[in-house]
Amino acid sequence: MSNTPDINDFAKRIRAHALRMVHAVNASHIGSCLSMADILAVLHTEVLRLDPTDPANPDRDRFILSKGHATAILYAALAERGFFPVSELETYCRNGSALTGHVSHGVPGVEASTGSLGHGLPMAVGMAIGLRADGRKSRVVCLLSDGECDEGSNWEAILFAPHHKLDNLIAIVDFNKIQSFGRVTEVLNLDPLADKWRAFGWHVLELDGHDIGALRAAFAGIPAVAGKPTVIIAHTVKGRGVSFMEDRLEWHYKSPNVDQLAQALKEIGA
Ligand SMILES: [Mg+2]
Repeated sequence: MSNTPDINDFAKRIRAHALRMVHAVNASHIGSCLSMADILAVLHTEVLRLDPTDPANPDRDRFILSKGHATAILYAALAERGFFPVSELETYCRNGSALTGHVSHGVPGVEASTGSLGHGLPMAVGMAIGLRADGRKSRVVCLLSDGECDEGSNWEAILFAPHHKLDNLIAIVDFNKIQSFGRVTEVLNLDPLADKWRAFGWHVLELDGHDIGALRAAFAGIPAVAGKPTVIIAHTVKGRGVSFMEDRLEWHYKSPNVDQLAQALKEIGA
C-alpha cells in the first residue's frame, strides 16, 4: 500500500525485533507472532488511543492480547510505541527481566497478564461494561488466536457481550488455521466461524489480516452497528513474511538458528 509507509515500516520493525528476540534466547512462538504483525501495526500506528507518557490515563483504549504466548511481538510494538526503550527488548526471557515469555502486566503498556488461553475476551468484556458504566469513550480491543476459540470461557463472553450491547468492544481472531501441533480443521474445526459469532449477535467483519488497507477501513468504521460488539475474523498466515516459516506447524515451537535468522531478516527487508 503506497499510502501506508509508516504502517508497513512499523510491521517490518516489530517482525525483526520478534525474530531477534526469540532467536537470542531460543524461545518459541515466532510463527504466532508473525501472523499478527500487520494487525498489531495498524492498531499501534492509528487505532489505539494510548499515551506512553500517561499509561494509566483512564480514558485510554484497552488492548488485551489473549494469545499471550505471542508476547515477543507485543513487547516489540510497545517499545516501538515508546512505552519503554527498544534496547530493553534484548532482555526478553532473561533472568530478572520484566519481559517474560508470556504476556505480563508488569510491562508498561500491558493491561493484563495472559497466556492461559480463553481468559482475554472474558476480561475484555468486563472492562468494556465497566468503562461504559463509568461513562468513558474508551474502546476495548481483544486479539484471540483461532486455537483458543476452543475454550468454553470465550463462548460465555461471546454470549454476554451482545446481550449487554457492548459496542465499545472489538474482538479480533487471528485465524492462521494452525494451533500448536495441528491444523485447526483437524484438532477442532471452527467452521463456519463467522456464522457462529453472527448467531451469537455480533457484527462480523471478515478480511485478509495482512491487507493493511482492509484493516484500516475495518477499524475506522467501528462501531458499524450501534449496540453491537464487533468481531474481525482476520484470515492470516502463520509465520507470515518468512518463506520457510509460512504455514508450517513446527514454527509454533521452533526457534530460528543463526543462519535462519539472517535469512528471515533478509526476507522481511530488515
Ligand atoms: Mg492459530
